[in-house]
Amino acid sequence: MEPGVLRELESVVGSDQVITKRERMLNYLSDETPPVMEPKPASELVVVKPSNANEVSAILKIANQNRIPVFPRGGGTGLVGGAVPTSNGIVLSLERMNRIQIDKENLMADAEAGVTLGKLAEAAKENGLSFPPHPGDENAQVGGLVATNAGGSRAVRHGVMRNQVRALQVVLPSAEIVELGAKVHKDNVGYDLMQLIIGSEGTLGVVTKATLQLYGSEGASITLVVPYTNRAAAIATVPPILQQAGPPLAIEYVEKDIMQRAAKHLGTHWPVETGEYYLIIIVAETTREEVLSKSMKISEICKESNSLDIFAAESARDQENILSIRSNLYTVLKPDILDILDIVVPISKLEEIVATIESFAKEIGSPIPVYGHAGDGNLHVHIMRKQGVEEPKYLDELSDRVYKATVKVGGVITGEHGIGRTRMAKVEKYVDPKELELMRGLKRIFDPNNIMNPGAKLPL
Ligand SMILES: Cc1cc2nc3c(=O)[nH]c(=O)nc-3n(C[C@H](O)[C@H](O)[C@H](O)COP(=O)(O)OP(=O)(O)OC[C@H]3O[C@@H](n4cnc5c(N)ncnc54)[C@H](O)[C@@H]3O)c2cc1C
Repeated sequence: MEPGVLRELESVVGSDQVITKRERMLNYLSDETPPVMEPKPASELVVVKPSNANEVSAILKIANQNRIPVFPRGGGTGLVGGAVPTSNGIVLSLERMNRIQIDKENLMADAEAGVTLGKLAEAAKENGLSFPPHPGDENAQVGGLVATNAGGSRAVRHGVMRNQVRALQVVLPSAEIVELGAKVHKDNVGYDLMQLIIGSEGTLGVVTKATLQLYGSEGASITLVVPYTNRAAAIATVPPILQQAGPPLAIEYVEKDIMQRAAKHLGTHWPVETGEYYLIIIVAETTREEVLSKSMKISEICKESNSLDIFAAESARDQENILSIRSNLYTVLKPDILDILDIVVPISKLEEIVATIESFAKEIGSPIPVYGHAGDGNLHVHIMRKQGVEEPKYLDELSDRVYKATVKVGGVITGEHGIGRTRMAKVEKYVDPKELELMRGLKRIFDPNNIMNPGAKLPL
């Protein structure tokens, strides 16, 4: 980067908040994408750490004037290379913008972009409220959660990030600071630009603050582990649970082998011996009586679908054990993964898509582990390393087979992880050309010089 530009950036945030030495910026150059898929970072980068929206605005002004790419960065927990800076430019880390205020009366949190998911949940709890959405890694930050429209296991009852955001502060590439939405439950004023920013993966502007919906605290919970000997039977139980018992907090689908491996990795044990296929169902309500009544209803439905004996974890410790095993599945599989797909299908098609993927695994003679947020029809399909194959070609062909099967049953190729960089080649294949034309038009309006996270989300 030119010394003059560097001096300008330093004058905005202070020289101690600008990193130029490669060895000091390594943590900002990658995310949690499987290593084989991880894009390569560019060679000439500078990391800049603003402390407020005015500084972000001044940085974008410098970047836009000099046509310098800007890569907004949150917790770096993304799984599709979205925060990896692949061309020479500025990595904009929002980590110092981590102030949060809880508005108890309105059940909302005003959180700066750098507040972590863990800190947000904790702040809500300290105020007798809750932020139930839980997209996996608690190091993710509010800006990243909004920019990826993150989901997670609890979306089955509360929806994805899109459903939690009430207002956003966004800095546009033009350096203007805009306030979108309001601290209200209904807003029908004009086109919904706030919703356009949510899920835009840093390509339209920088999210600097979000007003997020909080909820009353869930006073009691039970985690049910429902074992099955038959995969189809497990999956087929999801629609009747939703129809007859109403949405629990989460309905996850997992398999025995991988749960046992994750438990071993954590030095604990998977508490259920019977069955090969499981639904993990979290029932959370205001009172214990409500939890028990709903759990009974769900158990009856599962038994009617031929489940084996259900394991009910009631103590906080037992429930946390199950959840931490579930949360560590990716960590355990990661070294052998070529890619983690993130398909989503109509719930009625879950059984069909899982059977199709199983048939692919048999055909190629290699396992394709599947687990995920069954209550939303959102499954993570893991394409594993295989001896003796040409990996990029194998991965490309197999993921295309999975995607085609997904689209055929009315699904889409990503439900929560987004496009980032690793899915860019698939966008033109699976998105309607007219839709793409409109998206490109929007991008030109927001970011005519294409400085915002170039190379991600949308092929231009
Ligand atoms: C173990 C594990 C489990 C996970 N489970 C889930 C899950 O259940 N559900 C789910 O949805 N995801 C899950 N993820 C993926 C990841 O946690 C989410 O995508 C998360 O929202 C990323 O947030 P982040 O702050 O880490 O963003 P980053 O990875 O830093 O960035 C992600 C994208 O957002 C953009 N961005 C970041 N901050 C801003 C900002 N302030 N303004 C504009 N753009 C910005 C970046 O440019 C990039 O394109 C999981 C990841 C891991 C490692």
